[in-house]
Amino acid sequence: MAEPLELIVVGGGTAGWMTAAALAGTTNPSVCRVTLVESEAIGSVGVGEATLPQMKDFNDYIGVLEADMMRKTNATFKLGIEFRGWGFEGASYIHPFGEFGRRMGGVDFLHQWVRARQQASAAPIEAYSYAIQACRHARFEFPVDDADQLNSTYAYAYHFDASLYAQYLREFAEARGVRRVEGRIVDVERQPESGLVAAVKLESGDRLAGDFFVDCSGFRSLLLGQTLDVPFEDWSQWLVCDRAVAVPCERTEPLIPYTRSTVKPAGWQWRIPLQHRTGNGYVYCSEFASDDEAATTLLDGLDGKAAGEPRFLRFKAGRRSRSWEGNVIGVGLSSGFLEPLESTSIYLIQVAIMTMLKLFPGRQPDPVLMEEFNRLVDYEYDRVRDFLILHYHLNSRDDSELWRYCRSMAIPDSLREKMAMFRRRGYIDAYRYGLFAPPSWIAVFVGQGLEPEGYEPFADNLPIDTVVQRMQELQQAIDRRVQLMPQHGRFIDDYSPAAA
Ligand SMILES: Cc1cc2nc3c(=O)[nH]c(=O)nc-3n(C[C@H](O)[C@H](O)[C@H](O)COP(=O)(O)OP(=O)(O)OC[C@H]3O[C@@H](n4cnc5c(N)ncnc54)[C@H](O)[C@@H]3O)c2cc1C
Repeated sequence: MAEPLELIVVGGGTAGWMTAAALAGTTNPSVCRVTLVESEAIGSVGVGEATLPQMKDFNDYIGVLEADMMRKTNATFKLGIEFRGWGFEGASYIHPFGEFGRRMGGVDFLHQWVRARQQASAAPIEAYSYAIQACRHARFEFPVDDADQLNSTYAYAYHFDASLYAQYLREFAEARGVRRVEGRIVDVERQPESGLVAAVKLESGDRLAGDFFVDCSGFRSLLLGQTLDVPFEDWSQWLVCDRAVAVPCERTEPLIPYTRSTVKPAGWQWRIPLQHRTGNGYVYCSEFASDDEAATTLLDGLDGKAAGEPRFLRFKAGRRSRSWEGNVIGVGLSSGFLEPLESTSIYLIQVAIMTMLKLFPGRQPDPVLMEEFNRLVDYEYDRVRDFLILHYHLNSRDDSELWRYCRSMAIPDSLREKMAMFRRRGYIDAYRYGLFAPPSWIAVFVGQGLEPEGYEPFADNLPIDTVVQRMQELQQAIDRRVQLMPQHGRFIDDYSPAAA
């Protein structure tokens, strides 16, 4: 039998341990032997506590048990994100992980809603979203499979303590045969002719040789950026925030099942409810706020007592032009980062890992697999980029330089076309794979003040009175059903309370 592939994971943050756990959970050590090297002295970014529903698929796929993971990471459930002040002052809308309404008369709900707004009357669109109403009432329960039921129309994600999640995956991976090596990498050795990475050398003098390397070294991008010189595409002309300051505070009641994002003069502030504390951070643009101003804004915006000193982080929006180069795949911050809005980074880690498993490398680099990997990862980044830019661009705020800049900045053609199609017809291209699905775009478009001027003509097949009546019935049914859900805090206490 052939020798197993020696795979070295460089870095033990969320990306490194997710990679190691996925490999350990799905490949046999006789096929692939995994070693992870990390440096406690360097540490990891330690933020990244809000996720998307795909996280559950990842955990299920590799064999993580949900309740156990949630208990050990102080996790809560997440049904969406509330945006406060985005678009215009006083605005509050929720981007739900669920649908708006039901198809009616052969067209998507949005078209009947637009028609009812124009020809009769309709409540704000959030009244027709079960997930949003559950958020507004701080309630949670698992969705059911029966598509006829209202409580089948949503998915859920998690908020968790990022360091505890990495620790959890470390135990998971080590128990399944992943070898962990502690130490700082000080040099990278390359094969003289091919230029492929041959080994990493540690401060201790040890040398770790491998056939394939996964670069999870964070913003340093030790292999992909520093060693292989893969260029970085800078997207900061669209995503201008480049700093964050984070601080936890005491938990407050009720325990809401959603992240909150609140506009600030030079960016926005996140609020992530965990079982034992609330995570907070101010993401800002250093051109419009100093670090001191940002820390003051953050601390003034807490709704509980601060539990630690503010911690500063720097980043630049963009990605490496190739995530797979030679015998290195970059996963996580080493391959790119947009910004924390909409919690897409862990999702992009997951995409890279799952794509890597599908196109699993051999001992020799295969350009066909490599091209396909890079194409798929690029798609995901491009689409997420446009969705994030939309949040900044679609605003009528006039209270600070940052928001005026974002409103008037040039945006990618792909986003301009998307906005035009929505404005004209309420049309949204539904991707077969990847982010974001139509309800997400609807939430942001409508929430930030862009409503369609027209709708699909087939909507007229149904009399308007029938539409209005069905919409009222739907709204009432949602209200009634949501009242039957348990409070989110109580649900967690029963299902996955953190260890005392
Ligand atoms: C402000 C902020 C908020 C965020 N919020 C979210 C969010 O809510 N949701 C979300 O999905 N994502 C979020 N992210 C992104 C998320 O934090 C990262 O995607 C995630 O933590 C993965 O990071 P990483 O593992 O790639 O890098 P890191 O955590 O930086 O890990 C790098 C690893 O490489 C090791 N390493 C580096 N150099 C060496 C060396 N020379 N020798 C040995 N080891 C080395 C380090 O020790 C560490 O183990 C946020 C990011 C930021 C900056």
